[in-house]
Amino acid sequence: MEFDLIELIRQRTVQARDDVRLGIGDDAAVLAVPAGQELAVAIDTLVEGVHFPRGTDPADIGWKALAVNLSDLAAMGATPAWALLGLTLPQADRAFVEGFVDGFSRLAAVHRLALVGGDTTRGPLTVSVAVHGFVPPGKALTRAGARVGDAVLVTGTLGDAAAGLNVLQQWRREEDDRGQLRDYLVERLNRPTPRLAAGVALRGQAHACVDVSDGLLADLGHICAASGVGAEIDAALLPRSSALLGLYDDATALHFALGGGDDYELCFCVPPDRLSQVQADLSRLGCGATRIGRIVAGTGVRVRGHDGGWMEPGTPGWEHFA
Ligand code: ADP
Ligand code: MG
Repeated sequence: MEFDLIELIRQRTVQARDDVRLGIGDDAAVLAVPAGQELAVAIDTLVEGVHFPRGTDPADIGWKALAVNLSDLAAMGATPAWALLGLTLPQADRAFVEGFVDGFSRLAAVHRLALVGGDTTRGPLTVSVAVHGFVPPGKALTRAGARVGDAVLVTGTLGDAAAGLNVLQQWRREEDDRGQLRDYLVERLNRPTPRLAAGVALRGQAHACVDVSDGLLADLGHICAASGVGAEIDAALLPRSSALLGLYDDATALHFALGGGDDYELCFCVPPDRLSQVQADLSRLGCGATRIGRIVAGTGVRVRGHDGGWMEPGTPGWEHFA
């Protein structure tokens, strides 16, 4: 039965790539790293009930399992090539695997990514994806390297995925005039867009970069720690979608934008003289980038609230994350 599932996965994920010498079917894949490139690798695991709610559409799980990994490559400025899939299933559920692979391969096709192997086992529903990508030597974007005076930017909008989860937990499925806004937020949660083209465009431009998976405060905090600097963020500058602002009051929307995870936008630092060029480049790529603050001497992330003062633990929007 396990072999039927592997064959199903193999058939539905074919992606021709010259650099795959041997894909699914042997004891290991054999892959040709292009001469003159470095290999960037990452792995992320999604556990049912922890990283996605029970009952999530299998196609959404497949898309997201790959998207969160591609987002890590995007944050490094790498171009994706290959993936491995570790699938743990409570039972040999063909319908689940069909749906899963449908979502996975839809995103894989967009980025010409080949699934080259994996492992299939029985147990509580868990999905691990490992991705491999290329980056020119020495050009990988890292969390270290932010400098005092750099502008801090973020692609897209923040807080949508956390709001999408809230929608799933709080709202009853009923028709009203705001159904489209809710669908948008849930889509942002279930089908995040990894910012790969933006990551490539930031090579040689950004001093530091991270993807926003755990929430802006946490992830920008990682840049600060790795770079030995602090950051000051302006709450009024945080990019928030019209769906988020249409469904939630300002304090709640701010709370999601600062602390909510799962947005998979890029947060990065550029010197001020490159700001307008980088913003023009990312706007041409479709995601745009908003300046939200700056790098300062010191440690940690501070947020300036709407009243102009620093937000303290206990300020609406701040609590739960400090
Ligand atoms: P082995 O016992 O030698 O590890 P497996 O029976 O686990 O081999 O896997 C057989 C082949 O199928 C291998 O090439 C493996 O990479 C591939 N494979 C197994 N599970 C998956 C999966 N979930 N996704 C993609 N490829 C898989
Ligand atoms: Mg095996």
